Amino acid sequence: MIPARYGASRFPGKLMQDLGGKSVILRTYEVTKETGLFDEVYVVTDSEQIYKEIELNGGNAIMSIKEHDCGSDRIAEAVEDMDVDIVVNVQGDEPFTSKSGLEKVLDVFKGPDADKIDLASLMTEMNDWKEISDPNAVKVIVDKDNFALYFSRSPIPYPRDKNAAVQYYKHKGIYAFRKDALMDFYRLPMRSLEAAEKIECIRYLEYGKNIKMAISNTQGIEIDTPEDLVRANKVLKEDKTVTVNNKYRNFPMVPKVIFGTGSFDQLPSILAPKRKDKAPFIYLVDDVFEDNKELVNRMHLRFNDKLIFVSADEEPKTEQVDNIVRVIKREFTYNPSGIIGVGGGSVLDLSKAVALMLTNKGSAADYQGWDLIHNKAIYHVGIPTISGTGAEVSRTTVLTGPEKKLGINSDYTPFDQVVLDPDLTVGVPKNQWFYTGMDCFIHCVESLQGTFLNEFSKSYGEKAYDLCKEIFLENDLTEEESRGKLMMASWHGGMSIAYSQVGVAHAMSYGLGYVLGTKHGIGNCIVFNHLEEFYPEDVKLFQEMRDYHDIYIPEGVCSNLSEEQMETMIDIALGMVPLWENALGDDWERIITRDKLRELYLRM
Ligand code: NAD
Ligand code: ZN
Repeated sequence: MIPARYGASRFPGKLMQDLGGKSVILRTYEVTKETGLFDEVYVVTDSEQIYKEIELNGGNAIMSIKEHDCGSDRIAEAVEDMDVDIVVNVQGDEPFTSKSGLEKVLDVFKGPDADKIDLASLMTEMNDWKEISDPNAVKVIVDKDNFALYFSRSPIPYPRDKNAAVQYYKHKGIYAFRKDALMDFYRLPMRSLEAAEKIECIRYLEYGKNIKMAISNTQGIEIDTPEDLVRANKVLKEDKTVTVNNKYRNFPMVPKVIFGTGSFDQLPSILAPKRKDKAPFIYLVDDVFEDNKELVNRMHLRFNDKLIFVSADEEPKTEQVDNIVRVIKREFTYNPSGIIGVGGGSVLDLSKAVALMLTNKGSAADYQGWDLIHNKAIYHVGIPTISGTGAEVSRTTVLTGPEKKLGINSDYTPFDQVVLDPDLTVGVPKNQWFYTGMDCFIHCVESLQGTFLNEFSKSYGEKAYDLCKEIFLENDLTEEESRGKLMMASWHGGMSIAYSQVGVAHAMSYGLGYVLGTKHGIGNCIVFNHLEEFYPEDVKLFQEMRDYHDIYIPEGVCSNLSEEQMETMIDIALGMVPLWENALGDDWERIITRDKLRELYLRM
């Protein structure tokens, strides 16, 4: 049931306003019907005009007879004589009502405590204090089973202890009633709390009924003001262009970068304007710098800023991300001002993931994949201390989870700011320098030889490829020149794969990493060393570089695998579908069989 009153106090006649060529109310009606969740959908209204709008467009509308104080009363009158079980009240001014939100409210009646529930409603997380303190946003607090304790326009709970971890929730005006409960509601007189707050569901609490809240974090736009309508029209227009023309990807880049020897010292002045009141900056720093007092001093931690040393001995895991997020949430009530990652690809990826998971619910493992993130990350800064991965520019963060090794690839993943100071890479051991540098070289090869290649990626890939040859083959560069060049090669290599994809070496190296814990850089080298079948010229070049720098690449790493380990390794590698498609085209499954992969792994 969609209650629809013509005369809204803040924006009269809003339901009949034009939204992308249709009235707001008709759009809400159609969206609700299209969810397929309901046996019947009705608009219940006091207005002839709205009634006609729905009827003339083939919908169901009911004229309400009496004057009503609220939407629930209006729909109670309408369903009084209908044979229905559950009635859902959908707001007429929410034309972007999502199917998932409605589904969640209905699912409440299928849960184990269904018989205790009189009414179900929706809530959504709020993290911005301005919104929390806005009386137009109704807040709700719940007990441990998500039953509502109280609704208010005041911030509840009051944050006397700023360090107590508490999540604020906003109430969304979607209700699902058992018919009996709805009819009760209609008969019960309004009491003082409801009258004071002007929030209708308080009536239930005042009469001791149980309201179960479901959580939905998908945000639509409510049409409360003329400005909302302008915004909604804009969103609709953008959505249309997206569905009509989604052939080309709109690729997010790092918006701010500073480059130069010693640029690290500018970090405090870069961060100062980003500091939010009492919210700290959290520094995630590679523990190789644990005893490096000088580096820590250069960061100028202030107030309640927090420094967490993280180990890069193992590559980032979803569990590690979840733990760091938990530590931060436990210590601070509000989200930090930002996350600053200082380290190699491992720490940079970890930092991106933590920034994302501070604003997205659940475990990092829920978001491994392409475009699964809903909410913008908090401000995050990346500062590489070793070059090659391109993690400083990329749209992903590679994580090992309980079931897969896969990145959180999203528009919100890239850093808001990167600091490129080649001097930070001074202490990198030679082998590590080579392995991580070869990650860059391999990125270029895989991107340049891939079927996803386009001029954009190519322009970056070719530059990085040339820089790698300059750095890793016989050269007369000074160490300082070489460091600066490798830092930029990493950047360009990252840009190249971000708009194309990696290939065979990465797909197979993910298998090694998952089963044996082999690290990314060396894992790529182990694999690439044996890929002459796929990348003949470049494998030769790689071997020249390896010999010139006298680097040892392990051999026979798969010779003692159990059958089960081998099967898992093959599963992980085969799971990297976009990588294979890029490397070998649509036909890849005919070339890369399980037997083929086993044979290749055994050769390594
Ligand atoms: P890393 O971050 O694991 O670091 C390698 C080693 O070098 C560590 O022991 C570290 O402590 C040490 N180190 C780092 N800086 C140092 C310094 N200045 N002095 C001395 N030692 C230093 O290695 P990496 O190769 O940079 O990164 C690998 C990670 O990057 C993997 O987790 C991989 O999945 C990820 N990666 C991500 C992307 C992406 O697009 N996001 C791309 C490629 C790789
Ligand atoms: Zn890589």
